[in-house]
Amino acid sequence: MNNAHWLERSRAAVWHPCTQMKLHDSGALPLVPIARGAGAWLYDFDGQRYLDAISSWWVNLFGHANPRINAAIHAQLECLEQVILAGFTHAPVVELSERLSALTDGALGHAFYASDGSSAVEIALKMSFHAWHNAGQPQKNRFLCLAGSYHGETLGTLGVGDVGLYKDVYAPLLRQATPLPSPEARQAAPGETATDVAQRAAAALAAVLETGHDAIAALIVEPLVQGAGGMLMYDPEYLRQARALCDRYQVHLIADEIMVGFGRTGTLFAHEQAGIRPDFLCLSKGLTGGYLPLSVVLTTDAVYAQFYDEQITRGFLHSHSYTGNPLACRAALATLDIFAEEDVLTRNRAFADRFTALLRPLATHPQARHFRQRGMIWAVDIATDAADFRLRLFREALRRELLLRPLGNTLYLMPPYILSDSDAELLAERTVAALDAALT
Ligand SMILES: *Cc1c(COP(=O)(O)O)cnc(C)c1O
Repeated sequence: MNNAHWLERSRAAVWHPCTQMKLHDSGALPLVPIARGAGAWLYDFDGQRYLDAISSWWVNLFGHANPRINAAIHAQLECLEQVILAGFTHAPVVELSERLSALTDGALGHAFYASDGSSAVEIALKMSFHAWHNAGQPQKNRFLCLAGSYHGETLGTLGVGDVGLYKDVYAPLLRQATPLPSPEARQAAPGETATDVAQRAAAALAAVLETGHDAIAALIVEPLVQGAGGMLMYDPEYLRQARALCDRYQVHLIADEIMVGFGRTGTLFAHEQAGIRPDFLCLSKGLTGGYLPLSVVLTTDAVYAQFYDEQITRGFLHSHSYTGNPLACRAALATLDIFAEEDVLTRNRAFADRFTALLRPLATHPQARHFRQRGMIWAVDIATDAADFRLRLFREALRRELLLRPLGNTLYLMPPYILSDSDAELLAERTVAALDAALT
C-alpha cells in the first residue's frame, strides 16, 4: 500500500482537524500519510522521511517509538488496559498523582484527570467557579484571560480564548471572558524592556481586579509563552504580579501549561520561573511523552477542602469515560522517569544554546521580525504580504524533509528533546532554504 492508496481513502472517509478540507483536494495543502515514526523522524509509505520539527503538534518529548515508553505501555497492557475511576482506583493513577504532586513540592496535591487539554481547562474553570459557589460566593462566576490567549476548542475554552480564527463564528454560543492586555514582549515601545511590558499589563490587570474582583472567579494564563496565539513570549514578572494580585483580590490563578509544561520553556513547569504556584495547573500534551491522550488538573488542599462535605452536590460531579486511563498513566510515569534519570533540562539548555546559534541566519533574515526563544521553543514573524505564506512554507518545508506548520506568518520550531546535532544543523539550514523558497 503506497501513499496514493491511503491518501485516497483518507480524503473520502476522514474529516481532518483544524483543516479546510478543500485545500487537501486542491493540492494547496498536501495531506501526508505516515507509516511509522522513529526518534525525531516520520516516514511515509513511499519511503520519504520528515523531521518532526513541531513534535507532532507539541506533544512529543522523547521521540517516536521511544523504547522506554513503549516498554512501559506493553507491560501495562498485559495487566490492565482500562477501568472505571469512579469508585475504583489502580496503581498507575496513584503513582502518577503522587509523582505530580511531588513535582509541585506538594503545593498542588490533588489530581483530577481527563483525556485532552480542552477538557482539563473546562475542569479548572468549573472547579474554580464551584469552589467559590461552595464558599458562599456564587456571584464570582466570570473569568479573565489574556489577549491572544488559546485554551482549547470546546465552547467553554473558546470563551476564555482570544484567537478569532477559531472562535469568531461561534460567538453566539459563547460566554466570553474579558481579554486583558497581554504582557507579550513584542508590545514593547522603543526603549521599553520586556519587564516594562509585563508591568504595564499587570497594571491593567490590577485595575480590572480592583473594581471587578467580586464577580471574578479566576484569571487563566498560558505561563511565559502564548502558543496558538503566535508563540508570544513574556517576562516572568507578569506571573509574579498576577499571583500577588489574585491573592490580594481573592481570585484563582489558573495556569494552562498544556503546551509549556514538561520542560518546554526550560524549567519543568513554566510558572517555576516566576517563583510562584497557581491554584490550578492544567497539563496534557507532553504529559505522556506525546503517546496517549491524558490530561490532568492539579489543585491545592484549599480548593479540595471546599468540595469535601456530607452533601453530594458540593462534590465535583464531573467525569469522562477514560478518566485516568492506566495505559496513558504508565506512559506518563515512563516520561517522568526519563526526566528524573537523564537530566533532560540541563541537556536541553545546552542544546538550546547551540541551536539558537545555528538559527542566526533565520534570526537575521531580511524578512524576519521579533526572533524569539524560550527553552525549547523558537519563533519568528515573517514580514510578507503573501496571503498563502503559511501554505507555501509548509509545502517548501515538506520538499526539504521538514514538518513545519507556521501559525499565520509566524514560523516556529518546537522539536522533540532528542534531536541530534546533525539533525539540528539540517533543520536550521533547510528551514531558511524553505523560507527563501516560500518567499519567492
Ligand atoms: C493544545 C492546547 C490546549 C488544548 O488541548 P487539546 O488537547 O488540543 O484539547 C489548551 N491550552 C493550550 C495552551 C494548548 O496549547
